[in-house]
Parts: sequence; C-alpha cells; structure tokens
Amino acid sequence: MIEIKNLFKYYNHKSQKSYVLKDINLTIEEGDFVSIMGPSGAGKSTLLNILGLLDEPNEGTYRFFEEEMHNIKEKKRVEYHRNHIGFIFQAYHLIDEMTVAENIETALVYKGVKRKERQAIVADVLDRFNIVGKKDLFPEQLSGGQQQLVGIARAIVAKPALLLADEPTGNLHSSQGKMIMDLLKELNEEGTTIVQVTHNDAFAQYGKRIINLLDGRIVAN
Ligand code: ADP
Repeated sequence: MIEIKNLFKYYNHKSQKSYVLKDINLTIEEGDFVSIMGPSGAGKSTLLNILGLLDEPNEGTYRFFEEEMHNIKEKKRVEYHRNHIGFIFQAYHLIDEMTVAENIETALVYKGVKRKERQAIVADVLDRFNIVGKKDLFPEQLSGGQQQLVGIARAIVAKPALLLADEPTGNLHSSQGKMIMDLLKELNEEGTTIVQVTHNDAFAQYGKRIINLLDGRIVAN
C-alpha cells in the first residue's frame, strides 16, 4: 500500500538545510498497524503528514497504492486524501459550531455522498460508537474521550483504507485512552491500515510493529 524510499525532508534555515527526516525507507502493507515512537522533534508528525498527503518530501519517493505521489496534480492529491485517508488528531480538531452528527457528516459531504445516504451512514456510525444520544450536542458539551470518539467516527465514516492517528490518546485519561486504542484495534481487525504516533509504551504495543524515529532517522524496526 505504501512504499517510501530514500525520503528526505528539510527546511531552509538561514541558507542552510535543516533536516527533519533523513533517508526514510518504509513499506507498509494493507492491514498493517504501525506505531511510530520517538522523542519530541524527531519528525514523527512530519512523517505522518507526508503519509497523509498533507506535506511533501524534498527528496525521495512515496508510492501510495502503486502510484507515485511526488508529482501528482493538486486535484488528484486532494482526491486521494479525501477518498482513502482518515486523520485523527490529539486535539480532536472538531468544528465547534457543528453538532456531533454534523461533524461526522462533513467527511461524507467532501466525498460527494448524497444527503439521504449520508444520514443513513452517520446514523450507523453513531450507533456503532454508542453516541446516538450525543448526536445533537456540540463538541464542548462532551468529555475528551467522547470528543475523540467523534474524531474517530469522522475519520472513518467515509471508509478510508488508511487511518493516520497523531497521538490520539495524548489528551485523555488512561481509561479513555484504552477505549480509543481498543477501537483502533477493532478497526484494524476489520481491515483498516493504521499508522499511529504515540508516546505511550503500552498503547504502542497495540501496533503489529513499532518504528522508532530519532533525529529524523528510523533507528529500529
Ligand atoms: P515530532 O512530531 O516528532 O515532535 P515534528 O515532525 O513535529 O516532530 O517536527 C520535527 C522538526 O521539524 C522539529 O524540529 C520542528 O521544529 C521542525 N519543523 C516542523 N515544521 C517546520 C516548519 N514549518 N518550518 C521549520 N521547521 C519545522
């Protein structure tokens, strides 16, 4: 599904290249569950953003579903991002002015799903995540764990092949964190490929493998 070869990412800083990712080589098969660990500033979020087509490498290749992502047109990049990738963030990134149901529905609006069908799909997801009773509430009326449930519901409602999670439990108490991790495990068992960034050793073990990043390099697989 994913093949990254000799990937470098840098920023120009005072006419010098400041490297954030150095010579990354990584293959991820469909159905995998990868945990990325490493100290702050190691390049974890940058790598996740490149995987999610939100950022681009300066050198190297990134193939997604056999297609080279480097020189694809913007329209196609957005299409890939919307149709195949779901993102979960540490800080949830829900839209405050929208209800739970509307937040989840947004991903389907972007995908061009018709209104009637959207409502049916959202109803199913609310039911599955046990948040039917919360559907008309706004994010601020929910606990952190509930907000992250909505974040995950929104990320997977359009059935992405790849789910990327940037410290999804970072703001949660451990019991809420475990609930979120159990849900990710279930989604993975149903076939969703997952890449998560985490600082939590126990939660990293939910992955089928762990990748350690140190100073922009993969140090152990
Ligand atoms: P992590 O997620 O492991 O904490 P990041 O991927 O967020 O690490 O950041 C890695 C490094 O890249 C950091 O040193 C950060 O300062 C640098 N960085 C990230 N974005 C930019 C940017 N837009 N301009 C310059 N440096 C950046």
